[in-house]
Parts: sequence; C-alpha cells; structure tokens
Amino acid sequence: MNPRRIAVLAGGVGGSRFVRGVRAAYPDARIDVIVNTADDVTLHGLRICPDIDTMLYALGDGIDPDKGWGRADETWSIMAELKDYRVEPTWFALGDRDIATHLVRTQLVAAGATSTEITAALATRWITDPALHVLPMTDGRVETHVVVVDPDAPSGRRAMHFQEFWVRHHAEPEVLDIVQVGIDDATATQEVSEALTAADLVLVGPSNPVVSIGPILATRGVRPALRATPARVIGFSGILGGSPVLGMAHRLLPAIGVEVTAGAVGRHYGTRRSPGGILDAWVVDSRDEAEVVGVERAGLPTLVVPLLMTSPEATAEFIRAGVEFAS
Ligand code: GDP
Ligand code: CA
Repeated sequence: MNPRRIAVLAGGVGGSRFVRGVRAAYPDARIDVIVNTADDVTLHGLRICPDIDTMLYALGDGIDPDKGWGRADETWSIMAELKDYRVEPTWFALGDRDIATHLVRTQLVAAGATSTEITAALATRWITDPALHVLPMTDGRVETHVVVVDPDAPSGRRAMHFQEFWVRHHAEPEVLDIVQVGIDDATATQEVSEALTAADLVLVGPSNPVVSIGPILATRGVRPALRATPARVIGFSGILGGSPVLGMAHRLLPAIGVEVTAGAVGRHYGTRRSPGGILDAWVVDSRDEAEVVGVERAGLPTLVVPLLMTSPEATAEFIRAGVEFAS
C-alpha cells in the first residue's frame, strides 16, 4: 500500500519519534498528527503544552537529543532567578529557550486564539514540511489529574496534576484513580475530524495508552471517527517485554485495569469488529510473541516485529511492515 494521507495519534517523546518514522516510511504522504493536549498545564502564569512542544521541537530539529524533550542548547537562568525569589513550583524544569514558546502561546491565549490556531502559529517556525500538520486533539481544555495514596493527607489520598505526579514525584506514589478533567466537554476539532475522515491510513503510535492515547480517544468524536473510517487503523505497542521503553505507563495501566503487557494494551484498544474497538491490526515487539495468541483470540490480527525506535529508518521499517500486514 502507498498511503497518500495518514493520520497519526500521538503523545510527546514516543509520539514524535514515531512521526519521524512515519515520514521516513512515506516521504510523499500528507501526515496529520493528532496530539494529546491533556498534559497541558499553567505554571508561573504560562500556558504549557508539553506534548505539542515536544512534537514541534522534535520535528523541527530543535529538541534536546539526549533528554528527548525540551530545547537543544538550553540555558536555565530564569529558573535560577525564580528559585532565588522562592517562587513555586520549582519542580518543573523551564528552560530559557523553552519559556519563549510559552510566552508566545500565553499571549495568543490572552488574545483569544484557539489551541489549533496557536499550534499552527508556532509550527510556522518548526515545521518546514508543507505536508506535515500538527493538530491538538481539541480546542477544549483537558487536564489529566491523578489520585494517589498519600499517608500524610487526612483522607489518605491526594489529587494532583499529572505533571506533578510524573515530574515532581517520578510516578512513585501508588495511583488510585486517573481523571481527565474537562474531557466530557472536549470535542475533536474540525481539523482532527477531517484528518480522520479523509485519511487512507490511521496509525495509533506507541505513545502512553493511558495519558497520551487515552485522552485522544476520549475526546468527543474521535472514537466514532476511528470506527467509521474506511482506512485501516493500525496500532503499535509501546509496551515491550512487559514494560514501557520510557515513561510511566507501567504505573498507570493497572489503575485503569489493564495489565502491563503488549497483549493487554492491544485488547484494551480492541478490534473494530467488537463494540467500541478501534483497531484493524496490532503490532507487538519480537519479545512479545507469546502475547499474540491472546490478542488474536480477541479477534485482533497481530504482527510481531522489532519495535525499538532507534532511528527514523528503523521506525519506518516496522511501520511499513505493519501497514503491509494490515492490507
Ligand atoms: P510522552 O507524552 O512524552 O510521555 O510520550 P508518548 O506518550 O508519546 O510516548 C511514551 C511511550 O512511548 C512509552 O509508553 C514508551 O514505552 C513508548 N516508547 C518509547 N520509545 C519507544 C520505542 O523505541 N519503541 C516503542 N515501540 N515504544 C516506545
Ligand atoms: Ca505526554
């Protein structure tokens, strides 16, 4: 198959690596990247969209290649100044270069621009490829909050923004519940609906199933569009050999009742032939061959290939394999 228009569902670090692979696999296709915005947060009065920023920096070669997020050649003067003022929070690293992005965004928010418009404005700097579009999943405001065990709290539990759980507490507290605040009022944008309807191929990246892909699927209009599209919908596992390659998916999956295996995540997304399912095919890593039986028993054809995104070319190879398998 030679896709002409591809829609990709993605989060930040894993999602952007995946998109680079999609571009390498299909150099001539139009690619619409539908990005999670439920990690968004306001700190120091600045509106921050971590997954959008990671996506733009990565696709524009502005990313810190070692960390996989944030700006290359970053400096930290403003953080140091804020610390000297004893202004909280100090746990979220905001580099000087990165802050410029948040200043631009925050001004545009104040001027009444939507997330879609702001992302398009920022993208004019980062995305030179006219056939690559970065789209926030919604113009509504959604924030993932996590309820964790806190022995020091009178109730024994505490709710916090997902970024605080992950960046400040390193995903260590036990998770009792995950809430997407605002999700019931969040609707897919016109651009996202169009991308899903017009695509001849839809790829669900190996991004975190709970806090990256989960909020996109929960945005009103997305799941019905995935179920209705004539395009093949192919999912790629981010769980390899029973754990995520990076991030904290293993701390969150149990809280939504999903085992930390490639098979369980595939069954969680489900086949389009079952109620609510979104996939035509599922792709797992070579280490997870034993998972195939269980997923296929649930009606979802599953391919086994090496899934490490060591380079855009390596990623492109498994993407093409998945696409050929599904067609
Ligand atoms: P975040 O928003 O920055 O947390 O990034 P994403 O949600 O987009 O991606 C994180 C997910 O990508 C994690 O669950 C990882 O397991 C997955 N991931 C990272 N590197 C790789 C890789 O090389 N191969 C695969 N298959 N998944 C990966
Ligand atoms: Ca994220």
